[in-house]
Amino acid sequence: MTRRACAHKPRASRSRCGPRRGSKPVCSGCQQRGPIYDHQSQRRFEFVPFWGFMVLLLYRMRRVDCRACGVKIEQVPWGCGKHQLTSAYMLFLAHWARKLSWKETAVSFHTSWEKVCQAVELVVAWGLEQRTLGPIVAIGVDEIAYAKGHKYLTLVHQIEAGCTRLLWIGRERTVASFEQFFTLIGKELAEKIEFVCSDMWQPYLKVIRTRCVNALNILDRFHIVAKMNKALDEVRAGEARRLAQDGYEPVLKKSRWCLLKRKTNLTAKQRPDYAMCCATT
Ligand SMILES: [Zn+2]
Repeated sequence: MTRRACAHKPRASRSRCGPRRGSKPVCSGCQQRGPIYDHQSQRRFEFVPFWGFMVLLLYRMRRVDCRACGVKIEQVPWGCGKHQLTSAYMLFLAHWARKLSWKETAVSFHTSWEKVCQAVELVVAWGLEQRTLGPIVAIGVDEIAYAKGHKYLTLVHQIEAGCTRLLWIGRERTVASFEQFFTLIGKELAEKIEFVCSDMWQPYLKVIRTRCVNALNILDRFHIVAKMNKALDEVRAGEARRLAQDGYEPVLKKSRWCLLKRKTNLTAKQRPDYAMCCATT
C-alpha cells in the first residue's frame, strides 16, 4: 500500500491508502484474486488512536469481478464486513472493555459505546466459532445473584487441572435454564462427564441426575455442613426437651455452640459442659 499522511482537522490524523499499482483485488467471497470491476467511494476506517489523535485510514474499496462469486466487494487485510473500525482497533477496544466498563472504554478512546459494543460482539463471535467444547470431564455449576430481588444466573465452569473456563451462562436457576446447557453440548458429551460439583439446589440436582448419568455428583461442603448442623441442632433441642420432661438436669440446653465447635477450640468454660453432654448422651 502507498500512503500519504495529512491532518486536516486537529485531533485526527488521516492517512489516505491505495492499493499497490497493478495489484488485483481479493474477492471477499472466495478469497481468490480477480479483475477489478469498479471503485467505490472513499471509506474511512478507524485505527488505534495515537497520543489522543484519532487515526483514520481513507481508502476507496474496489469491487472484484469474480468468476466464482460474481461482482463482490474486495477483502482488505485491516477490516472486515461493513465495520468502520479496523480489526486492530476492535481487538484493542475489546481488550480494554474487559478491564473497564464499556462506557469508560468509549470515553477513554474518544469513540462511542456502540462501537465498543460492536468490537466486543465481534471478538465474542470469533471466540465462539473457535471454541471446542469437548471432551469435558468435570464441571461445576453455581448460581450468582444480580440486581435487586431474587434474580439469578446459572454459571457452568469446566474445572479440570489445566483447563478451567467458563462454559456457559444462563438466566434463572431453574430446571429449564440448566437444561439448555446440556442441549448445547449434546447427549454424547454430557454422558462422558465424570464429575459434577454443585450445591444442593434441587433443580440442579434433578438435571444432573437425568443428564449426567455417568457422573459422580460432588456436593458443596458448605451446604452439607449447614444441613448437618441443622440436623444436629434439631436432635439436641429434642433431647433437651425430653430430658426436661423426664425431670433430668437440662444439660443440653444452651449447649449448641459447645457441640458444634471442634473439641480443640472449646473454651475452658465449655469443656466441662462438653464432657457432661457426652456423658449424658
Ligand atoms: Zn469469489
